[in-house]
Amino acid sequence: MTQDLLKRYGGAVPRYTSYPTAPHFSDAVTETDYRDRLSHLPSGEPVSLYLHVPYCDTLCWFCGCHTKITRVYKPVQSYVDTAIAELRLLADAAGNRLKLGHLHWGGGSPTLMRPEEILRLAEATKGVLPHAPDFEFAVEIDPRETGPDRIAALAESGLTRASIGIQDFDPEVQKAINRMQSYEETARTVQDLRRFGVHALNLDLMYGLPYQTQERTLETIRTALWLRPGRVALFGYAHVPWMKTHMRMIPEEALPGPEERLETAEAAAELLVSAGYRRIGLDHFALPEDSLSVAQDNGTLRRNFQGYTTDQADTLLAVGASGIGRLPDMFVQNEPSLQTYARQVSGGILPIAKGVVLSADDRLRAAVIERLMCDFAVDLNMLIASHGASADCLADADGMLSRMEDDGLLTRSHGKLTLTTDGRPYVRQVAACFDSYFRGGAARHSSAV
Ligand code: SF4
Repeated sequence: MTQDLLKRYGGAVPRYTSYPTAPHFSDAVTETDYRDRLSHLPSGEPVSLYLHVPYCDTLCWFCGCHTKITRVYKPVQSYVDTAIAELRLLADAAGNRLKLGHLHWGGGSPTLMRPEEILRLAEATKGVLPHAPDFEFAVEIDPRETGPDRIAALAESGLTRASIGIQDFDPEVQKAINRMQSYEETARTVQDLRRFGVHALNLDLMYGLPYQTQERTLETIRTALWLRPGRVALFGYAHVPWMKTHMRMIPEEALPGPEERLETAEAAAELLVSAGYRRIGLDHFALPEDSLSVAQDNGTLRRNFQGYTTDQADTLLAVGASGIGRLPDMFVQNEPSLQTYARQVSGGILPIAKGVVLSADDRLRAAVIERLMCDFAVDLNMLIASHGASADCLADADGMLSRMEDDGLLTRSHGKLTLTTDGRPYVRQVAACFDSYFRGGAARHSSAV
């Protein structure tokens, strides 16, 4: 049964951290379009901000992020200057009247920044986007480079949540992915964060890595749980060496096959559940008192470029090379080239490279896909009605959904679609039925499981 399902539904599909997905952004969206929308953003609602730091000091072979390796610090300092200049351009374009509800620093490695840059960047952000009440500030933390001085600077800047990269503690796996990181240094970082008052912690782990067995993955999880984080993310490694050439360093023969991946993900989920965590969406786990669990219970869980979130803002501004932002009816992505990005910002240009304006149909399909990815269920009739669309507007998904229903992946009743337990691992494949840009994989994605 598992093998049959994998054969039928294990093909390449998007991860749906947005809809339409990034490969469908185009250069038809201009800076003028973006400025026009920024100037009309409502001033009452807090916005969110994602700031991308595209530098690391070593490259992990599994990395799917936009980053550049640097052994010298000067480019990081100059990059912070440019990011601050971009922030000012953005705030000006929005009439200097926005408030910031959520701030997320990701990368790359934001913790490559020294304390002086951390403080300078946080201060400048607050200067142009004053904090809303209940301001939240999350940062992706690499324990290999994050000592107490950096954590003190982050805490002074208002850090409320730390997302700590681990992936796997097994030395053979670590060697094969070029990321050597001991439990002790990770535990020290966790201790320092708690000492500085940062108690909301996520640990990021991965399955599907080379030389990982089910037992090794479970051992990593048991070790990670000694740190008792509020949240654990367990991402499936996406092997796409045709897009990220450094992934060719990963020995393909040592990668677990689809069936093993599926079994490992399931065994890992059972272990986390038995340790008191709740399953959240496709790949997250949270303690019952964590805000992610609460959001799941009350139906307000959201999905964005950082994964599952409680952030309800309709506007996510992005700063930094390759950063992706979302406005109520538009996605925009910044220039990925560091040189072009810096040149445009210094010329007073908002450095967007591409994007997409969402049609009414895109917005409906985005809502359907987001509910599926968050809840494994969606009330199609309710969403169609709330979007003012015609009753048959999603009929193109019917053929594929019927096949999935026959295969026991989902049930449909009175317009409500619900994934079965067997169907949950294939949620991306179900979401793809509603994706009118994805017809047979125009862009190449990772496998569904
Ligand atoms: S630290 Fe993170 S962003 Fe940097 S190379 Fe490793 S996985 Fe990629």
